[in-house]
Amino acid sequence: MKKIKFDFNVDFYFYFLNKMVLSEIEKKERRRESNRKYTLANKERLLEKSKQYRIANKEKIIEKRKRYRKTPQSKKSTTISCWKYNGLILPLPWYSILYDYYINTHRCEVCNNEFKSKRDRHMDHCHETGQFRWILCCSCNTYDNWKKKKYNTNI
Ligand SMILES: [Zn+2]
Repeated sequence: MKKIKFDFNVDFYFYFLNKMVLSEIEKKERRRESNRKYTLANKERLLEKSKQYRIANKEKIIEKRKRYRKTPQSKKSTTISCWKYNGLILPLPWYSILYDYYINTHRCEVCNNEFKSKRDRHMDHCHETGQFRWILCCSCNTYDNWKKKKYNTNI
């Protein structure tokens, strides 16, 4: 049997791959631009259309929203937006990482007591800098027990 030896030109391969990825990005960008133009040109008509759809499918939309609210994805995004609203500042991918950590924490990080319920778990952050500090139980979060413990002062 004759062996076929591939002369694999790595540079060419990467050049080709790069070109493919770039063209994919360009395509996406072009599509987005044309969509934007179309929406601007047909604004009134599209608004009217979506309004009609909402009126005709009211029940369906409510049902869909209810179903979505029960999903973990919805709970996650609601919790994260709540944190953002309350002034937590993190680099963007860290919100998701912190949420996973938050969900998997079952004990208060200061008093080490187990959380009594899901509502007992609190994300504590510095209100001046927006930095994340601890996952706390309700009483530690309310009375700032951790501050007294850490700095040994009465604040
Ligand atoms: Zn605690």
